[in-house]
Amino acid sequence: MLKKWLNKVLPGKAKTAKLSRQVLSFNEHGIHAESISFAAEKVIKRLKQSGFEAYIVGGAVRDLLLGVEPKDFDVATDAPPEAVRKLFRRSRIVGRRFPIVHVMVGPETIEVTTFRGGPVHTQNELGRIMRDVSFGSQEQDAQRRDFTANALYYDPIDQVVVDFHHGVDDIRLKKLVMIGEPAARYQEDPVRMLRAARLSGKLGFSVEGATASDIIPCADLLRREPPARLFDEILKILFSGHAQNCLQQIHALGLSGHVHPLLDALATGADKTATNMASLALKNTDERLRADKSVSMGFVLAAVLWPQVLALWLRYQAQGMRPAAALNAAIADVRAQMDQSWGVPQRYGITMREIWVLQPQFEARKGTRPFRLLSQARFRAAYDFLSLRAQLGEVPMALVQWWHDFQAADHEGQQQLIQNAPAESGVPQNRKRRRKPRNKAKAAEISQDAD
Ligand code: ATP
Ligand code: MG
Repeated sequence: MLKKWLNKVLPGKAKTAKLSRQVLSFNEHGIHAESISFAAEKVIKRLKQSGFEAYIVGGAVRDLLLGVEPKDFDVATDAPPEAVRKLFRRSRIVGRRFPIVHVMVGPETIEVTTFRGGPVHTQNELGRIMRDVSFGSQEQDAQRRDFTANALYYDPIDQVVVDFHHGVDDIRLKKLVMIGEPAARYQEDPVRMLRAARLSGKLGFSVEGATASDIIPCADLLRREPPARLFDEILKILFSGHAQNCLQQIHALGLSGHVHPLLDALATGADKTATNMASLALKNTDERLRADKSVSMGFVLAAVLWPQVLALWLRYQAQGMRPAAALNAAIADVRAQMDQSWGVPQRYGITMREIWVLQPQFEARKGTRPFRLLSQARFRAAYDFLSLRAQLGEVPMALVQWWHDFQAADHEGQQQLIQNAPAESGVPQNRKRRRKPRNKAKAAEISQDAD
């Protein structure tokens, strides 16, 4: 069905419109050469002095035209990778699908890509590009980029912008437009559909005509993508500073549902007015990123997946398991699913587990236990997580307040707080039995609790 539809809209029928190479001067583009990083300028200067063409390309030019500070500066050139590699002592060739040169200048790394083009790429039966190692002209390079807004080239030495697809106009009109035939471009690389959602959400652009309407019929292709590549794209959404907008776009463009389990879990976070774990965590993440503060992705993922952990935790307790053991079992279940097919790197899983496992320990406010918890490496993240749970009414606000005071108090104040702390709830009452496990299995369970 999909194949039939694609055959109808695809090959042969794609228009090969004659491209006009527009060169815009400073008066027309208004980008100040000083906005370019020292490293990128140095790389471009050296390439040009050696007789090559070289430009800042992609997202950085788009962001400069929008008056946004670019995250990084990528360079495109007609110099082959080996020539770039020879020009810069601190450089190396990377990339399997397509060779890229990383040039290190001081603390910065500039990605230098040779113009792509030509017919030499392999596609599978659905038109997916499997390998792509041919070089080409600047015009061909522009045609291979995804959106018109992303296919602009800026030369900071001559101070010109080169535009083949009216990208500058589209940026001014805040329109995201796919270059070429959208269905064919989604078929070549389905991740472009997620990029459409991410970029439109992040930039506040509208997605135009077929760039939007071809997504629904192509959406299923995304499920065939390697989970690790989808996870990378989801991470970019979470790190965009506009995650809630991006997720709204994912929904609006018809991409929600069974693309990746993490996207399904994130769906509830799109609503800015909702109060659930994902939306609170995403709102907080977006605010922090926009204020240039750091965020822990392990924390965000812990929040997004918490409803699943919580549901299992409650179920196992209802089946008679003690809280700490039930939580461990719930975490193990969620992590087993994650490890199987989500493409989430180990390090995030470890942080998430640490944050989750500490949650019941906040209830224990007698004796030396509060001091032990306070000295845990993940205390701060786990405490922030506790306060999110309190905002949802999962635990009393008074508990968060107690820990807030406990962190701020001097030793005497802390002893006072411990003395006045109410009896614990949510942890086993018969503490003696916990300290004297009857068998090795129980001992293992308790030592895990103390992580
Ligand atoms: P961001 O500002 O979020 O980094 P970006 O547009 O720079 O957005 P990158 O992933 O850094 O995104 O990609 C750099 C450039 O490479 C893009 O602007 C685009 O020209 C091109 N590009 C990236 N991914 C694709 C793709 N899947 N298909 C075609 N072109 C792509
Ligand atoms: Mg970029």
